[in-house]
Amino acid sequence: DDGSFQNKKTKLAKKLTRQDGSLMTLAQSKKLSQITAENAQWENRQLFRSGAVRRTEVQMEFDDEDERRVILLVHDTRPPFLDGRVVFTKQAEPVMPLKDPTSDMAIIARKGSLLVREFREKKSMNKSRQRFWELAGSKLGRILGVEKTAEQIDADTAVVGDQGDVDFKHKLKFSQHLKEKAEAVSDFAKSKSLSQQRQYLPIYTVRDDLLGVVRENQVVVVIGETGSGKTTQPTQYLHEDGYTRTGLVGCTQPRRVAAMSVAQRVSEEMETVLGDEVGYAIRFEDVTCPNTKIKYMTDGVLLRETLKDSDLDKYRVIIMDEAHERSLNTDVLFGILKKVAARRRDFKLIVTSATLNADKFSKFFGGAPVFHIPGRTFPVNILFNKMPCEDYVEAAVKQAIAIHITSGPGDILIFMTGQEEIESACHALAERMEQLISSSTKAVPKLSILPIYSQLPADLQAKIFQKAGEGTRKCIVATNIAETSLTVDGIFYVIDTGYGKMKVYNPRMGMDALQVFPCSQAAADQRAGRAGRTGPGTCYRLFTESAYQNEMLPNPVPEIQRTNLSNVVLLLKSLKVENLLNFDFMDPPPQENILNSMYQLWLLGALNNVGGLTNLGWKMVEFPLDPTLAKMLLMGNELGCIDEVLTIVSMLSVPSAFFRPKDREEESDAAREKFFVPESDHLTLLNVYLQWELNQYRGDWCNDHFLHVKGLQKAREVRSQLLDILKTLKIPLTSCHMEWDVVRKAICSAYFQNSARLKGVGEYINCRNGVPCHLHPSSALYGLGYTPDYIVYHELVLTTKDYMQCVSAVEPQWLAELGPMFFSVKD
Ligand code: ADP
Ligand code: MG
Repeated sequence: DDGSFQNKKTKLAKKLTRQDGSLMTLAQSKKLSQITAENAQWENRQLFRSGAVRRTEVQMEFDDEDERRVILLVHDTRPPFLDGRVVFTKQAEPVMPLKDPTSDMAIIARKGSLLVREFREKKSMNKSRQRFWELAGSKLGRILGVEKTAEQIDADTAVVGDQGDVDFKHKLKFSQHLKEKAEAVSDFAKSKSLSQQRQYLPIYTVRDDLLGVVRENQVVVVIGETGSGKTTQPTQYLHEDGYTRTGLVGCTQPRRVAAMSVAQRVSEEMETVLGDEVGYAIRFEDVTCPNTKIKYMTDGVLLRETLKDSDLDKYRVIIMDEAHERSLNTDVLFGILKKVAARRRDFKLIVTSATLNADKFSKFFGGAPVFHIPGRTFPVNILFNKMPCEDYVEAAVKQAIAIHITSGPGDILIFMTGQEEIESACHALAERMEQLISSSTKAVPKLSILPIYSQLPADLQAKIFQKAGEGTRKCIVATNIAETSLTVDGIFYVIDTGYGKMKVYNPRMGMDALQVFPCSQAAADQRAGRAGRTGPGTCYRLFTESAYQNEMLPNPVPEIQRTNLSNVVLLLKSLKVENLLNFDFMDPPPQENILNSMYQLWLLGALNNVGGLTNLGWKMVEFPLDPTLAKMLLMGNELGCIDEVLTIVSMLSVPSAFFRPKDREEESDAAREKFFVPESDHLTLLNVYLQWELNQYRGDWCNDHFLHVKGLQKAREVRSQLLDILKTLKIPLTSCHMEWDVVRKAICSAYFQNSARLKGVGEYINCRNGVPCHLHPSSALYGLGYTPDYIVYHELVLTTKDYMQCVSAVEPQWLAELGPMFFSVKD
């Protein structure tokens, strides 16, 4: 009777077209929804039998030849293991790291900075800096406000002063004596040898006590101010005390940058080459050797090592550094390492934290002793803004210039939320310094402007630690990376915007996204503390005292309570943690989030109907990749194109390879277009890599084609590491030999949750939730002339619109075939 059903459906479809004329949703009609359900049953008998399908809906389209195509959208599917436990009417809501979503700070955080927007526009208008300056004094220049900013500068210098914007609440004027002392301290690092510097650190005075406590206890919690030596010293003390004779001393960091930078520092202090006795490991980069005794690594790397070696036998001691940050991986490691400590009596665990509420850590580890490193800090004069400041980036730039002109020696540290803000702030600072120099009759002291954020190349990052030239003031513009992870000496002035970026699960996008939020009181206090490391300092808070009291949370919300847990769930499942809801979490994530992540993994086929790992799931765990990318890779294997997919996954795992210099945007855009594969950005990435390979991986070839050679080299390294994993899994390298439709199908299999269908010019709507999303202007599909009906995308980026990043055209029947829980299709 399938035939008659077909007939019935055709008739009804035609009828609806006449009524409406355009795209229709059959589910809107009661009569039709019955048929839809029937259809779903017919299409997804399996799923229905398991009770997974709840509600269905038909979307219909007629193409040019009036040929009918019906897409059936199946809503509310769920694996049986979730039945009765949770109703998936919508995605689980994350715990928001916000005290009050209607507060001034929350609103400002959502709005973002005007200065950043201006900078972005300026960039996209291809207005080179040179040209901008030529405008000064001209009529156009006046219209564009070049002169206006120059005038503003004079007014801005008045910002600091007893009557200025800043409220001098705690009047603490430095005596001349204090200032001299401070200067002496700041010169200290410059004049003393590394070993003298080591002995000057606060932790040095308690070295033997610390070693004593570690000797007598299996787990120790160490508390100390940032900069006291917690990260660089205990590893060396343990090495000196002989612990490394019987295993490694490992030290975990929540941030890649910190792991690399600290390992570098410690290798210098120990006078060895980095990668020999002292090494580091971050994802896709292992700089250790058999001779390594001290290993710094990200917490994610250690977590993955527990897969291979659940007892971590090669480690004698693990130091979990920066525990107060409560990163997702650190939180999971707490539970795992607690078990390791119970199983291995020779194993030592040290947990270090920069904040005082260590009771939680101590309690979690059964009342482990808490060791305090005596602090050596100087008073910090904290100044609050009188009014909430609308544009905190602009305000921070003004404040920095004001300090530079009116205040005594000492470097400046500004806290911003991310790369774009930092770039715009640095640009504005440079611009205003130029204006000052050209408009001032007196000599303006030099200002060295130094950005730091995690995506900044390592050699540029290292610059923040270098001495500034004689008579030059450093102004470091940083993300919260400089809050506790990295310590720079010589900071006397901190400018705190009061905001930070945080990864939070975004139910609308269906994935984690970095968003700006007000930081916590604890974070603000840490930031202020950075000014009092080498002498008495000042912290300018660009928010009000009342905001501090009423709008900021006392402590940050741990990452585990606000992000997607798919990776963690997959990992814990493979560690045979049967019931995730009973895992020993210090602060358990919301149950809904665990279940939601399990649901996502079930959709990808990593979990079976009873919540256990499938064969595919077991294989997915092997790759240090997001579950979606691991799935794409393994589908490449099934479809016989893993060689191609491997390259795409590697390219997606590194920052964009395309280079777009500010003054040569048109030229570089033209160069990029030459690589375009019209129906897919993923295939475009593949094409770039293949061309590079054909040109013997040459650097000059990259330069000629506006490609980042470092990015491509990194992709090549990632590729070879993933290839090693494939070899150990005995998965052969198959190629589809330029049959690129097969590759698109593999891509589709990973992203069927991120699918969208055409609605207008360059405008799509998400197939699952109907949210509009747009092609990014840099996409190969943009301005193609024809836009495919159905596409999948890698991720959404939120700027002025919801842009889909990295898009591929797909055939609708693939969606039905690969994501039967969402789609089915009848022609
Ligand atoms: P803590 O972990 O307690 O915050 P650290 O051990 O990181 O302290 O830092 C101790 C000292 O080592 C600080 O004075 C800091 O300036 C210095 N230091 C740390 N890393 C580097 C580096 N990469 N380059 C130069 N100095 C560094
Ligand atoms: Mg540290």
